[in-house]
Amino acid sequence: MGDTASAASSKTSSTELSTLPVALDLRICPSCGDRASCPQAAGDNLRCVECGHRWPFRRLPLFALTGPSAAGKSTVGPKLAQQLAGEAVVLEQDVLWTGALRDDEPGHPAFRAAWLRMAAMLHQNGRPVVLCGTVAPQELEPLPERVFFSDVHYLALVADGETLGRRLRARPAWREWDEPRIAEMLEFNRWLRGQVECIDTTEAAVDDVVAAVARWVRAGIGETPESGPGTS
Ligand SMILES: [Zn+2]
Repeated sequence: MGDTASAASSKTSSTELSTLPVALDLRICPSCGDRASCPQAAGDNLRCVECGHRWPFRRLPLFALTGPSAAGKSTVGPKLAQQLAGEAVVLEQDVLWTGALRDDEPGHPAFRAAWLRMAAMLHQNGRPVVLCGTVAPQELEPLPERVFFSDVHYLALVADGETLGRRLRARPAWREWDEPRIAEMLEFNRWLRGQVECIDTTEAAVDDVVAAVARWVRAGIGETPESGPGTS
């Protein structure tokens, strides 16, 4: 399949691991140009299913700062970006919640996959991504693009249900927080507590939450030998 394109690569041995990737999109094989629907990784190398070519990439951990709406992600995000400048790239996932990516599929796999590809591409610049936005591990872990990451760390900002409900009801009408949606979010808030590491923001000062999240990120970076802080 698509072997005509591999003629130019005949000089490149499939074991020549020092070859740098030529495409920023990690799904594209630098040798035959195939775009993998299910990328394969072995340690710090990607492998093309079509031609067997292997090439190195930076396999960094991804940090998912999740939680229900109104628990503080948006408040924490900008301060976290400031505090982690030079160490990590803090991003808001909702900027891609647009057009065709705004799908109605349960778990929004197209949206999630686009983010994993984007984060993995950013990782090739040497800084891990902290992705802020509501997500459950079950929505990322099964995706083929998960292989691009050494680990995905999850941390949820949660709050007391009554407080969350009050904050959501106070939001402007265009955000469409009706009672069924609020109930769904409160249920998610409860459920998350049993699923991932959590910080309860009900009474916490914003700066304390930011500091705790920054500690979580730095600890996760430290766990990964190839991405160790080193310079600091
Ligand atoms: Zn290939």
